[in-house]
Amino acid sequence: MKQISILSGKGGVGKSSIVASLGILLAKKYKIVLADCDVDAPNLGLIFGIEEKDFFEWENISTNEKAVFDLKKCIACKKCFDICYFKAIDWINNKPKLKEFGCEGCGACEIVCPVGAIKLKKINNAKIGYAKTKYGFKLVSSQLNIGESGSGKLVNKVKEKAKSIFVDADIMLVDSAAGIGCPVIASVSGSDYAVLVVEPTPASLFDMKRAMSVVEHFDINKGIIINKFDINKKYCKEIEGFAQTQKIKIIGKLPYDKNFVKALVEMKPVIEIDENIRDLFDGVVGEIVKTC
Ligand code: SF4
Ligand code: SF4
Repeated sequence: MKQISILSGKGGVGKSSIVASLGILLAKKYKIVLADCDVDAPNLGLIFGIEEKDFFEWENISTNEKAVFDLKKCIACKKCFDICYFKAIDWINNKPKLKEFGCEGCGACEIVCPVGAIKLKKINNAKIGYAKTKYGFKLVSSQLNIGESGSGKLVNKVKEKAKSIFVDADIMLVDSAAGIGCPVIASVSGSDYAVLVVEPTPASLFDMKRAMSVVEHFDINKGIIINKFDINKKYCKEIEGFAQTQKIKIIGKLPYDKNFVKALVEMKPVIEIDENIRDLFDGVVGEIVKTC
């Protein structure tokens, strides 16, 4: 199974819309499965008109541990309170109390407690499930509980689930998180090809360069899609110049088009409502398949 990851660095540049349209076109020739690895803001399903109720078998999972205190053993030495880098422990009535949010499960408090009053315990802090799109392929998504950590681990679980529900798939298409943190590294890891989506703005180019450093770390083949290339032709040229210097192919240039917004409002992939944009995406798919 080949893995193609779509990432952008900056959020809000149209990455998930692009993933949805690429998925439909790739599915015409290949057996594919989609992995929504933007685990802090998973909305790929909505682009296909899929809501939470449409998912099968939501499974509770754990991506983290938390400190649990046995206050009967506690001798109020305050060592746990002092050691906690994340300030996740309150000190109330001369006893430690874990705050609702903040415990990263690092285990420092467990180590320093002289009487063994603290144990790390796994917590169910996320859920993972899959849905079938009307195009025949499946989409795996997840939800991390608010304030919880472990998004990188959750990305790995989403990818594992995608592989397990469709072991015969030719391609797993990964919608990566924005940024360059743990979930992005987990998304990109194991990829055969990476698509970097950028808009012609300084912020988007800056963030895409940072995301590209993650891709280069893994030595993955890559291409660039410039979305809304015509909103700033000067900056578009700057991106093209950058790509030329770095020897990265621009595999697609998509115009600013109100149909992208219309598609989001109607919960449809944009190629469903605009033939011209479909043709542009056909070209992008051709470039990806050639290189991947
Ligand atoms: S496990 Fe780490 S983050 Fe959580 S309370 Fe203990 S020291 Fe703080
Ligand atoms: S380190 Fe252990 S004994 Fe000391 S305050 Fe914390 S829980 Fe109590």
